[in-house]
Parts: sequence; C-alpha cells; structure tokens
Amino acid sequence: MSAQKLYLNAVQFKAELDRCLNCKNQPCMHACPVNCNPQEFINQAKSGNYAEAVRTIGRNNPLGQTCGLICPDKFCMSACTRSKIDFAINIPKVQATILENYRHLAPKAPNPSYNGSDIAIIGAGPAGMSAAAVLSRLGYKITIFEASSRIGGALNMIPSERLPHETIEKDWESIVDENLIDLRLNTKIDNPAKLLNKYAGIIIASGEPNCAVLQIPGEENCLCHIDYLQNPQKYKTCGRVAVIGGGCVAADCAFTAKANGASAVEMFVRRRLSDMRITRREYLELLNKQIDISPLSSPVKAENKDGQISLFVRRNRFSADKIEAIPDSTVEIPGYALIIKAVGSYSGPMIEHNRIIYAGDCKHGGSTIVEAIASGRSAAFILNERLTASAA
Ligand SMILES: Cc1cc2nc3c(=O)[nH]c(=O)nc-3n(C[C@H](O)[C@H](O)[C@H](O)COP(=O)(O)OP(=O)(O)OC[C@H]3O[C@@H](n4cnc5c(N)ncnc54)[C@H](O)[C@@H]3O)c2cc1C
Ligand code: SF4
Repeated sequence: MSAQKLYLNAVQFKAELDRCLNCKNQPCMHACPVNCNPQEFINQAKSGNYAEAVRTIGRNNPLGQTCGLICPDKFCMSACTRSKIDFAINIPKVQATILENYRHLAPKAPNPSYNGSDIAIIGAGPAGMSAAAVLSRLGYKITIFEASSRIGGALNMIPSERLPHETIEKDWESIVDENLIDLRLNTKIDNPAKLLNKYAGIIIASGEPNCAVLQIPGEENCLCHIDYLQNPQKYKTCGRVAVIGGGCVAADCAFTAKANGASAVEMFVRRRLSDMRITRREYLELLNKQIDISPLSSPVKAENKDGQISLFVRRNRFSADKIEAIPDSTVEIPGYALIIKAVGSYSGPMIEHNRIIYAGDCKHGGSTIVEAIASGRSAAFILNERLTASAA
C-alpha cells in the first residue's frame, strides 16, 4: 500500500478535522485504552498548532504513528458521535498523519537525569516499548532484552503494506535515550528471576510466542502462523494455500499467502462469518483479494499425500447459541501446497514476585496494539509505585 493510502492527503485531512463535533463528554477519549485525546489534537491541528498536536498524541501514546496505522475501529471510532450523523471520524488515521507530517516540529523533550534505579524489560514489543517510554521519563535506567533481531514484537508479523517496519522505528526514535535506555537485541532471557540480583524491578512483556495446537491427526503437516508470518519468503508457493482460523491474524496469513504467489487461498473458520474477529476493512479486503472463506467449517485431519496435503473438513451449524458438529459431514479437500494454522498463541508460565510485573499479551492474552501499550504503561507506573514505596 502506498504512503498515500496509509495516510490522509491534505484534502482528506482537513475534511476529517472539520467534521469533529467537539463533543463535551469526549466519548472518543473515554473509549481509548490509553486515553488519547482526539478532540484536543484535532483542535490543535485545526488551528495550525501541529507541534502541540504531536505533543498531545505523545503524552499518552509513545507509539502513536504505528498505532494510528493499525488500531482497530472498535475503540475511539466506534464511540465517535459523528457516526450518528454520517460516519465516524477516522481518528487513528488523523493521528498517524499528524505524526507522519509534523513530528519534526516537536523534538523529544529531554528525560530527567538518572534516578539511581535500574530496571529490566523483557520484550521489545509495544508493551515493552511503552513501559520503557514511561520509565525513562521517570529517570530509570532501562535495559530491554529482546530475543529477536528487531524491535516491534508481533507487529513485525503484520504485512508491510499495512504497517511498514520503518513506522515502528520512527516511534522508537522518539522513545530512545542513549543515557537511559540500553536495547539488547538477539538476547533471550530464559530465567527472568535471575535478573533480580542486578535490577530493582523487571517488566516481562514477552507476548505469546507459542502457537496454539489444533489437536488433530496430521497436525505436523500444518505450519504455525508465527513461523509463516515471521519469514514468509521461506514459504513462497504457487500452489493452493489453506488458512485455518477466522481472526485478524488468519486474515494477515491469507493476505500474505496471496501476495506470496499462492494460486488460491481458502480460509476455514469454525464459527459464522459474522463471528469473525476482523474489521470491516479486513473483511472487504479478503473479498477484494478473492480469498475464499468457508465459515462453520472445522478441519479434523491433515494428511500428506505425495507432497500435496489433504484437509479433512467437518461442517458445523449454529444451534441454540452454540456451534455444533453436523454428523457425517466431513469432506476431504485435496491438493494444498501449504496449510497455515492461525488459531491463537499462548505465553509461558508466570513467576510471582513483588518486583516482577507482567504486561501486554503475555498477561492479557492476544489483544491489540493499543491495549498492549496501555498495559505496558500501567505496568511501568505500578513498578514505579512499588519501588518508590519500598525506598521510602
Ligand atoms: C499477524 C498479526 C496481526 C496483528 N494485527 C493487529 C492489528 O491490525 N491491530 C492491532 O491493534 N493489533 C494487531 N495485532 C496484535 C498486536 O500485534 C499485539 O497485541 C501486540 O504486538 C502485543 O504486544 P506485546 O508487547 O504484549 O507482545 P509482542 O508484540 O508479542 O512482543 C513480545 C516481544 O518479546 C520478545 N520475547 C519473547 N520471549 C522473550 C524472552 N524470553 N527474552 C527476550 N525477549 C523475548 C519477542 O521476541 C517479542 O519481540 C496483530 C498480531 C499479529 C500476530
Ligand atoms: S467523539 Fe468524534 S466528533 Fe466527538 S470529539 Fe471525539 S472525534 Fe470529535
């Protein structure tokens, strides 16, 4: 997707700003997990005070541009009063456009000097990055340990046409502080408790790095979405691809497979079309890209037949608010070059300790960027409170 489509052009930007109703009760702000204040930054941008608009966004959201590109419409937009007249203001896009065009007008304010306490953060996804932003503003020295070779965590699995990686880097640039933040890439922490000797506190924001299992015979013939999305080039195919799952991750697998040369992509979704956990935009994009969706379909077996994989799929129906299997409805669908399962992921066991705080998806389960940011911020404030109380 071109930058033009990712961001609003000048005419669209002005139109969106002009549509804001300046609602007294600010429903958009209350619906945002990080309490961003769209009314304030819209008004500032409207009066040409772009530097202040940039600062307003950054006050609560250190990953404002990344968030603006991918935040789902279920938060501020679904609360926006304007939708009662015509349609919601595209607040996330307004936010991303302000940062893309005017960030340079508001250079990062310096952090306070070192307060004498060191904190370790495990994971450089949105939760870990936002925790680092809050803690460095409080003067803590932070070491971020990141197992992979780049920042961003699960955001790196989002196709670049939706989220170019450089956007994450731009947000990160406004967080980094060479005196207070030490980022150690390619450094996996196997035993976080060991860090307690060296650090006053630890925030674990390690996401959900393990792929959920389907528990079907022949599951070894299906590839985990994490392996696929982290390295799609490795799995280029011109054959048929099946994607098992009906959420936004499954949709991204389908888009990626299509872009990766698949002759056809089919999604198998256990529940109904209306239950799919994707945005309207994603749904329309699936249709536009001619990706087939089979709802009420549960794969029950995958079998490798001379290099081609057969998927055995059972039909379900919706009855008394529950999904039930239709007896004797399983059919064999042969001829897949690749089957990707995108049915969830999970984190490892948690350690209980007063100086260890969990944040983001590893604590709350698969969520969204803005919820992970909110969780990272709140973990940082809680840790600060605990450390301040124990020092008093
Ligand atoms: C394909 C896909 C598409 C998505 N699309 C959207 C979307 O459109 N909109 C949206 O809002 N959200 C989306 N999400 C969800 C969003 O990306 C996550 O909710 C968010 O990234 C979670 O942030 P986190 O920091 O908790 O964990 P993560 O982003 O998973 O980051 C965890 C980090 O910890 C590191 N780590 C793990 N274990 C260790 C260890 N032992 N030592 C050191 N480092 C470790 C990992 O390498 C990783 O970098 C999507 C997710 C995926 C997978
Ligand atoms: S809810 Fe919508 S219209 Fe009202 S202040 Fe927020 S952005 Fe403006």
